[in-house]
Amino acid sequence: MAEPMGMFMGHPSQSLTVCSDTSCLRRRQAWQKGTVASEQQTERVLQRLEHNVDVLWTKHLDEREVSRKISSLQTTEALKNGSCIWHRRFLDATGRWVDKWIWLGYAKTGHKTYRPLHLVLCQKQGEAWITVLTVYDPSDSNGLWDKTFTQRMCWHTDPL
Ligand SMILES: [Zn+2]
Repeated sequence: MAEPMGMFMGHPSQSLTVCSDTSCLRRRQAWQKGTVASEQQTERVLQRLEHNVDVLWTKHLDEREVSRKISSLQTTEALKNGSCIWHRRFLDATGRWVDKWIWLGYAKTGHKTYRPLHLVLCQKQGEAWITVLTVYDPSDSNGLWDKTFTQRMCWHTDPL
């Protein structure tokens, strides 16, 4: 799994414990089911990227990149060096299987400084491409993630 080459300084007030709210604890249990196969899912996505699968960048993504001051270059970098932190496979309303991944990668922002980025990826059954639904910097969402940005701690606000 890709590790950032330099030091990343986490946000000092980043939460280290799971939010104790009842609904967050329930969502935390559901979340953990999506983390059990992260390594296999990382391999699956990386294999597709290595075989030059088409990547669809949505209009929503463009808008989010602009409002969150994330460049397309940073998003591309994080896609290439990242890994899966959460995956779910579910049936959509039309009965097609959908794979959805939360992907954590890093974008270099200076000498030995990196910015963490979460990309939300999806691929529907029968589609030959991977769609990047959105991108955000988890260090901007205070208390939602642990300091490694791999574990979600709270659902009180939505990073998407
Ligand atoms: Zn919470």
